[in-house]
Amino acid sequence: MGSTVAYYLATTPGWRDFSVTLFDDGIGQATKAAAGIISPWLSKRRNKKWYRLARSGAAVVNQIATETQMDAMTYCQSGTIITRNTDERVAELLELGRQRITDAPMMGTLKKLTAEQVNEMIPMLDNALPGLLITGGARIDGARYAEHLLKIAAGRNLSSKKQKVTLTKNKNKININNQEFDRVIICTGAWMQSTIAPLGFNLKVRPQKGQLIRLHLNHPVAFDQMPVLMPEGERDLIPINHNQVIIGATHENDMGFDLAPSEVVIEDLLASAQRLIPEVDRSNIDEVRVGTRAYTDDFAPYLGSLPRFEQILIGGGLGSSGLTTGPMIAKLLATAVINQTHPDWSEYTKPLTDYLL
Ligand SMILES: Cc1cc2nc3c(=O)[nH]c(=O)nc-3n(C[C@H](O)[C@H](O)[C@H](O)COP(=O)(O)OP(=O)(O)OC[C@H]3O[C@@H](n4cnc5c(N)ncnc54)[C@H](O)[C@@H]3O)c2cc1C
Repeated sequence: MGSTVAYYLATTPGWRDFSVTLFDDGIGQATKAAAGIISPWLSKRRNKKWYRLARSGAAVVNQIATETQMDAMTYCQSGTIITRNTDERVAELLELGRQRITDAPMMGTLKKLTAEQVNEMIPMLDNALPGLLITGGARIDGARYAEHLLKIAAGRNLSSKKQKVTLTKNKNKININNQEFDRVIICTGAWMQSTIAPLGFNLKVRPQKGQLIRLHLNHPVAFDQMPVLMPEGERDLIPINHNQVIIGATHENDMGFDLAPSEVVIEDLLASAQRLIPEVDRSNIDEVRVGTRAYTDDFAPYLGSLPRFEQILIGGGLGSSGLTTGPMIAKLLATAVINQTHPDWSEYTKPLTDYLL
């Protein structure tokens, strides 16, 4: 979110008239640990506000990728395949897709695939199931995305500091690490509660640990544009370039801010990988990624200005779909700062006060 906000603040027509500082200590960052699937349209979630946010977010990421000429390693509209164990259940998905595509042209086209067709598109799979291809689905590398946007912003009005932030109040100005600012946007993910506590707030947000593995394959496969696989009852499989796949991710509650890779989880992720691609074993694992997501009680993101601190906007609670919803929230927050307005965001979220104790 921070990098997307910085991008919007650096590319608005009046960007020369103000300067922006981004503070980030980078520890535990969910964005750089993420699996990177952007395909929210057939989610079973009933929360309409969340869905609007996610649908708009998928379009915003695509727009940013196009206007900044993001490379295919960073963002690739590879399509996503959701599998089900029977053709009837794939047909149900297709029906839901047909209902939703009218308001979400980003979905591209929908195509019912037999197990053989799924296998043709993702050849290393064993025992493929039938599925639905959504051509507008995408994969994104969170670390590269953030780096790319920060580089653009750094060439304009942004300076970045790798620092942990402590907020203090000094009359009407907000003081961050002894520097004064007129406007502040806080998007410290799972750490939001500790960030705003010094101002007297208690936010209902909890950390959730996520782990995934990145593996290389033994036999080269043509990876260009290979779709992401969201298989029924298994971890997701994200083919990335250089003959590698990501398998993940876990959703571990009650682990606090723990960032240690867990042997049990690695074995579990590997077992999931082996059910999809039997040839892989422990020696194929090149990386274990761990990050901390932020969750609210209703699993929905929040955004708004802090009560009594009109100059501070906050946003977060993105959960497991934050690479999809986060850029949209960032756009809303940056636009509010640029236009110096306090828009009504009820289309997308409940009031911020619902998340404050
Ligand atoms: C394993 C895993 C897989 C995921 N897969 C997907 C996926 O496939 N699709 C999808 O859409 N989403 C996915 N997500 C979710 C998504 O990554 C997150 O929701 C999103 O990246 C959160 O963005 P954020 O900017 O709110 O928080 P973060 O990316 O966590 O950034 C917050 C930053 O604030 C910094 N910070 C905190 N406190 C301070 C402080 N006091 N001072 C300075 N800096 C501070 C942190 O160090 C961090 O760098 C996944 C997440 C994980 C962990």
